[in-house]
Amino acid sequence: MAYRAPLKDFQFLFDHVVGLSQVAETDLFSEATGDVTAAILTEAGRLCEDVLAPLQRKGDEQGAVLENGVVRCSPGFAEGFRAIAEGGWIGMSASEENGGMGLPQTVATAVNDMMSSACLSLQLNPLMSQGQIEALENHASDEIKAIYLPKLISGEWCGTMNLTEPQAGSDVGALRSKAEPNGDGSYAVSGQKIFISWGDNDFSGNVCHLVLARLPDGGQGTKGISLFMVPRHIPDADGNPGIANSLKVVSLEHKLGLHGSPTAIMDFDGATGWLIGEENAGMKTMFTMMNNARLGVAVQGVGQAEGAYQHALAFAMERKQGRSPIANGTGTIIDHADVRRMLATMKAETYGARAIALACAVAIDMGHATGDGDWKARAAFLTPIAKAFGTDIGCEVAHMGVQVHGGMGFIEETGAAQYSRDVRVTAIYEGTNGIQSMDLVARKLMDGGEAAYRLLDEIEADAEAARGELPELAASVWNSAETLREATEWMLAQDDLNDRFAGSVPYLRAFARVLGGHYHLKSAIAEGGNGVRSRLAEFYISRLLPEHIALLIHVRQGARALYSISPDDLAAG
Ligand SMILES: Cc1cc2nc3c(=O)[nH]c(=O)nc-3n(C[C@H](O)[C@H](O)[C@H](O)COP(=O)(O)OP(=O)(O)OC[C@H]3O[C@@H](n4cnc5c(N)ncnc54)[C@H](O)[C@@H]3O)c2cc1C
Repeated sequence: MAYRAPLKDFQFLFDHVVGLSQVAETDLFSEATGDVTAAILTEAGRLCEDVLAPLQRKGDEQGAVLENGVVRCSPGFAEGFRAIAEGGWIGMSASEENGGMGLPQTVATAVNDMMSSACLSLQLNPLMSQGQIEALENHASDEIKAIYLPKLISGEWCGTMNLTEPQAGSDVGALRSKAEPNGDGSYAVSGQKIFISWGDNDFSGNVCHLVLARLPDGGQGTKGISLFMVPRHIPDADGNPGIANSLKVVSLEHKLGLHGSPTAIMDFDGATGWLIGEENAGMKTMFTMMNNARLGVAVQGVGQAEGAYQHALAFAMERKQGRSPIANGTGTIIDHADVRRMLATMKAETYGARAIALACAVAIDMGHATGDGDWKARAAFLTPIAKAFGTDIGCEVAHMGVQVHGGMGFIEETGAAQYSRDVRVTAIYEGTNGIQSMDLVARKLMDGGEAAYRLLDEIEADAEAARGELPELAASVWNSAETLREATEWMLAQDDLNDRFAGSVPYLRAFARVLGGHYHLKSAIAEGGNGVRSRLAEFYISRLLPEHIALLIHVRQGARALYSISPDDLAAG
């Protein structure tokens, strides 16, 4: 089944749901007019359909390997990467002065979504570079910027991010890597990092590692961590790759999926590095990269959901099995009520999660272009929701895609199983979805719920305005926002953070559910209540949105009932 870029969905969401036009009205993004963004999406869609999608199976069947200390990548990946680089897609949202396109994050997010559908394991490489570019643009010295940015943006060099160590996963503050000043402005970085995506490759001139490590006087925890640029080859006086640095790939992980992406254990042995940002402020600096990557990972989930859906739909339209009681059916399994349920769920969920990610991207762009605090707060609030919901939906939709295929879903040659294996990690890396939910109910509610309430006000106002045209759908969305408002008030009233944490995952999902209802309703209204998106909205609002009620009951239970089940109880036979 060949991948088809969902250009019409992106265009519709841009024009009628998330309001890309307001981004184009700012001075910073005035060139991102409707015509320009449509042409960009068409071009990116073509690359994904023709060049990247054919690499998806190859990456799975012949994953990256380590041979005599050298990482050998999957067949065709070097050419695929080159095509991404030559199209300018790595530096889509990087500043034009360093060779980027200066596009809004919203457009880049749509492109990343398509690339993730086409070949997730390869797409992870430019995604890492994109995050690194943003971190350097915001925090690096002019000298570092001049050496690294043009080469990262052009794709001559690639970027990675090195946080995780065996004892420091979610708890990054537990890391032990060290950095000692060399006395010449550089540092000697030592330590072992694990799970490093694209830790090396055989197609780029250099690999630039952003490494978190502790200076000799760096205190304990996250506050004593600094960030360093540690290249595989140290740039010479002309900025070209010079002598090899003291670092190596120790081994590559054997993984459930994403085989085309080399996940490396890295050893840094007094490797030469340069400080990025201020001493002991590494986590803050790295967060620029991580926030970018979180939205990028959100649409990795959405993109995989899209790919899995397209596969399942094509299969369901051909597979004949049994007879459905409906008249005038197609004679294929798509006529069966349960298969129709699965396909409609897959499509509606993907659409909702995509809308949330694009709304988050619009908030990032507006915050960036206007400096407005409300937009920045919205972006911060939506980021964990977009990441966790987008990737949960990616996993669930890919899982359903296997089910639609029946036994053939379990057989590798259909490609359905690959989606469910590849996408699984998206709910784990870039901060597990559990950590995202805790961020939402703790840090993101520290404003007294202002950002949350502003969103809920908007959802209710739009639902109110829709009552004349689509009364039942509008009432359901309005009621869901009100129930969520009450649950948010409950959250804010809990002084014991663990009571919030105990309900954080269902709270995040309920918020995403309600946002999904809001964006589906907006789509139906824009269509005049009659069309594909209106029928999809009716399906989502009547069958999927009600889940928020049970989720919010769960939210209010607090931590006590959870801890009343002891570790002994859990282990009891
Ligand atoms: C394929 C792959 C690629 C990766 N790429 C990179 C990369 O490029 N760079 C990099 O630095 N890292 C990378 N990682 C690491 C990844 O970010 C971590 O795996 C992730 O952050 C989780 O850490 P952990 O595996 O140690 O799990 P743990 O932190 O041990 O978590 C185990 C479980 O406990 C939960 N948990 C942990 N702490 C808390 C808490 N405080 N409260 C509630 N629940 C908690 C988690 O949610 C999870 O369910 C990658 C991992 C994989 C598998």
